[in-house]
Amino acid sequence: MAASPDLNRLDDTALARDALALLSRYVQFDTTNPPGDELAAAQWLRDQIIARGITTDITVFEPAAGRGLVVARIPGSEALKPLVINHHIDVVGADPAAWTHPPFSGAIADGYVWGRGTLDTKNLGIIFLLALESLIKAGARFRRPIVFMAVPDEETGGKHGMGWLLAHHAAEIDPEWVWDEGGGGLKGLFGPGVMFGLTVAEKQIQQLKLIATGKPGHASMPHKDNANVTLLKALDRVLSSPRPLRVGPIAAAMFRALAPTQKFPASALLPHLRNPLVLRLLGARLQAQPTTNAILRDTISLTMLQAGYKINVIPERAEAGIDCRLLPDTDAAEFQAWLRGRLADERITLETMESSPPSGSAPLDGPFCEAITAAVQRYVPGAPIFPMLVPGATDGRYWRQRGIPAYGFAPVILDGADLGRVHGIDERISGDNLVLGVKIARDAIERLCGA
Ligand SMILES: [Zn+2]
Repeated sequence: MAASPDLNRLDDTALARDALALLSRYVQFDTTNPPGDELAAAQWLRDQIIARGITTDITVFEPAAGRGLVVARIPGSEALKPLVINHHIDVVGADPAAWTHPPFSGAIADGYVWGRGTLDTKNLGIIFLLALESLIKAGARFRRPIVFMAVPDEETGGKHGMGWLLAHHAAEIDPEWVWDEGGGGLKGLFGPGVMFGLTVAEKQIQQLKLIATGKPGHASMPHKDNANVTLLKALDRVLSSPRPLRVGPIAAAMFRALAPTQKFPASALLPHLRNPLVLRLLGARLQAQPTTNAILRDTISLTMLQAGYKINVIPERAEAGIDCRLLPDTDAAEFQAWLRGRLADERITLETMESSPPSGSAPLDGPFCEAITAAVQRYVPGAPIFPMLVPGATDGRYWRQRGIPAYGFAPVILDGADLGRVHGIDERISGDNLVLGVKIARDAIERLCGA
């Protein structure tokens, strides 16, 4: 499809000003989750969508008291399934004392809008909104519907957000593709250049509690059935023998795409990472990096320990919490059996606190990937694009679990320092980055949906 000719005539300065002001206002709704309180922000989004002439077919749901969820539908001319474009309204907390500008002030300074949510993910909402407005004002028509969504509660697991929506309204939405957060442009992370990661899958969550029991007693008379010691020895057996490195299809494609950015011999070896010999050669380097380690194996983090109540008493119970993230094709039952084998002590029981079913993967090629690739190539020529597996969890998993392709892609470019600001201090985004985002999003939406 021909790209819209008026695109290059967009007034970047005016667009940047509009984007910065809109995002600034959006950030001023304090949607720290918990409790979230996203309803007012959701109503504001609805008013913006109507005022900007995008659509009037909008519902603001209230999945729980004070929580707001927006579903806005732009019709298409053909009987095709919609494209969903989604972001989350809630944000994580922020300690104002540490910030240059208060995190919910929406300060605009030095070409940036500062505040919690400017990278995760209120920026994405404003980018989608302005891309739609720009397309519609240019007279674009759509062959498939577009569903703009804004959901609450992503940061604490999505029960009152995407989870609720799919439990109650999945059939009405029934998308062809879902475009959400989770990937995007990275600068200086793998070599000096810019490259774009397109998230196609994420790891499975298994958050487990280990409970060791033993014989209580006085500390002056140590014995062999101390729950603390039982737990520590078992934890050591688990943590000192990590799961094997495994190169799945997503990791293989990712390292193939990254190879040209690396020095020899990594550049020559990375495309063949599925070869066990090559993996053995590069394994030490890959697992030394927490990011690549997380992409190549099931991981276990010991996050909680709870035991004892008095210095001179041997307790009868000791607990540990471990947060395990499994590769998309790991069988959770096999993992738990492996874990029990390592614990190897009948005085320890295992409880599942939280688990997610396998997320599945969106296709690594096809129309969605082609549209994103073409849009990126138009505005950032030559930048490589690679499929990505994210170690963390996003709302995308709710769709992939249902077999619906969900992709994570923020059409902006972040460097290492920016990534540290996500869930960190001084989160901010520049007007230039927002303009780039609107252009890439607009181009990709037009390729996927234009009539
Ligand atoms: Zn997020």
